[in-house]
Amino acid sequence: MTHSHASKLVTSELRATARRLFDEIADMSRDPGGGQSRPAYSATETAVLKHIQSIARDAGLSAYFDPGQNLVMTLPEDVDADNYVLVGSHIDTVPNGGNIDGLAGVVAGLLCLLDRRQRGTGFPQPVRVVALRGEESAWFGPCYTASKALTGTLSQDELEQRHRDDDRTLDAHMADVGVNMALVRAGTPLTDLGRILEYIELHIEQGPYLDSIDKPVAIVSGIRGNLRHRRILCIGKAGHSGAVPRDARQDAVMAVAELLMRLDDSWRAILNNGGTAHRSSKQRHSADCRHCGIQHRHPVQRSEDPRRDEGIAERGGHENWCKAKCAVRYWCCD
Ligand SMILES: [Zn+2]
Repeated sequence: MTHSHASKLVTSELRATARRLFDEIADMSRDPGGGQSRPAYSATETAVLKHIQSIARDAGLSAYFDPGQNLVMTLPEDVDADNYVLVGSHIDTVPNGGNIDGLAGVVAGLLCLLDRRQRGTGFPQPVRVVALRGEESAWFGPCYTASKALTGTLSQDELEQRHRDDDRTLDAHMADVGVNMALVRAGTPLTDLGRILEYIELHIEQGPYLDSIDKPVAIVSGIRGNLRHRRILCIGKAGHSGAVPRDARQDAVMAVAELLMRLDDSWRAILNNGGTAHRSSKQRHSADCRHCGIQHRHPVQRSEDPRRDEGIAERGGHENWCKAKCAVRYWCCD
């Protein structure tokens, strides 16, 4: 068998393994509401990690859980290496998320190990592949919780945040799956960071840019940190829909409109400084438009006025439209 024939065989076997893994994990975490849901620190997440572990072990790799209950995989000869290159990503998803977000980075690392195992040639430097759990912020609010636990930076305040569905704390959920909470609460790193030579994470692009320039892959120059306002509540004041004059209204919807315009202004400013921002894509409210003339009652005035956008911005400036209180809680995610 020629060398190139052998390597083609390995490549096609690896491709089949990747397909099988993606398909099986998609089935394990399929959400009746659509997409995949692998909640942070859930039984589904644990089952997926154990499934990956069994595939790694069947192929002769070393695969074990670290004190943060993340799955770690290596070539058997590298288990006790003093220093290593860390490769990996997360396997949890947002609710109704995509199957390959995060998972692709874990599978890619695993395939590198399987490739070297089959060829019988090691890496120039020892490699560990980590499948992290609990990185998505959608379940508790705080993000990157597994990484923070590993590095001893998960705060008490973050540990007390509650799950979006069952209202139990992050601390309780982490304890449930067997994370060493005494160390986490004490802020003790769960891994010796000094032994990590480099960290490499393959991740699918979350935006449309690479597709638009027809490139399959790129190297990112940095990961942006962010401040997240998880719940913004605008509270107005109910008033008779016909009898309260415009200037006396404290309309929550109008306050939201102004808030969004101001956010859009800050977004532009942030972009000018090389950053990015995003907002929720859905907004629910109702509108009641009253006027004596039927021609003025359309809820959205159709206007050919080129200054319409300026008009909206000006309207946002009227104080009487925005006497709404905004209760804001944010998380630093860098
Ligand atoms: Zn991700």
